[in-house]
Amino acid sequence: MKRVPLLSYSYQEICQWWCDEGAKLGPQKRIFSEIIRSKLSLPLKSDSEISDKLLHKINETFEFLPLIAEDIRESKDDRTIKYLFRLSDGTKVESVAVPFHKKYTLCLSSQVGCAMGCKFCFTGTTGLTRHLKKEEILGQYLFVWNHLKDKFGHPSTPNIVFMGQGEPLHNFDVLKESIESFLEFPGLGLGPKQITVSTVGHAPGLKRWQELPPVNLAISLHSPFEKERTQMMPVNKVWSIDSLLEILEGYPWHHRKRINFEYLLLGDHNDSLEHADALADIVSRFPSMVNLIPFNPYPESPFQRPSDERLNAFKLRLVERKIRTMVRTTKGDDILAACGQLANQ
Ligand code: SF4
Repeated sequence: MKRVPLLSYSYQEICQWWCDEGAKLGPQKRIFSEIIRSKLSLPLKSDSEISDKLLHKINETFEFLPLIAEDIRESKDDRTIKYLFRLSDGTKVESVAVPFHKKYTLCLSSQVGCAMGCKFCFTGTTGLTRHLKKEEILGQYLFVWNHLKDKFGHPSTPNIVFMGQGEPLHNFDVLKESIESFLEFPGLGLGPKQITVSTVGHAPGLKRWQELPPVNLAISLHSPFEKERTQMMPVNKVWSIDSLLEILEGYPWHHRKRINFEYLLLGDHNDSLEHADALADIVSRFPSMVNLIPFNPYPESPFQRPSDERLNAFKLRLVERKIRTMVRTTKGDDILAACGQLANQ
């Protein structure tokens, strides 16, 4: 009998399955939590609280991880780790674990490849192969978390950013189910503030934003000028900056629920003070924060990294305009694990 991925179920569906098998709900939460937190593999071993018949049924019904880690690389400069996963149909995706103080943040993929075609992005050169399934998104997280625990003994659940391969809002229904499962599965203990969804401004998805649990939103803006943004991000032809801002202005943002604007700085391209002023004009319309990301070159990329002088001047101008601004330090670029560098290599 073909086994089904356990992680494709919602927690309610798992409880329902359990009840349908005539088992008591009592030990179910603990057993499921143990699978999530440490075992990572079926079959389950004998357990005093459930019958051998039920154990047998669980083991013959479910498969746990629908992916295999084919390659794991650790950066020499820091403790960034990149994972290459092979999925059951032979396609591949990558996830990255990024250290931040004593915790890790896991950068998860939502699609195999990506249809958005951003000109500065390695993944964008590959095109879209397919959407990921819910169990493949959760599987990335659970594999990496358990690997980090084995390696470093990190006890707390890592934060999540949907900033790996793919445009998460292009795969909206699966993203929604995945986030709901991250929040409700016992053994994880994740809260919505620990999850960030990063989008190029996929308008159909943004219009449904409030269907998602109250997670963080990051908008990849990268240029404050329509024409230039279209050159960098072809989707801007369809979903212009103005139309995105109109959608965003329809939602109730406040200081505890701000928008993160991501701004990739390309050397001598979008890093002038004129850009900084126009960016400040846009983001000051919202409770917001700007993350400046110095570009990470990849093989044959047409762009370069900004100089330190231009990066610092850009940041200073935003700060003078009273915009909360952070510079995201580059991590993992020696293993092509930094932002925009993922392409299964
Ligand atoms: S930056 Fe994101 S949305 Fe754009 S092509 Fe790359 S993966 Fe897709």
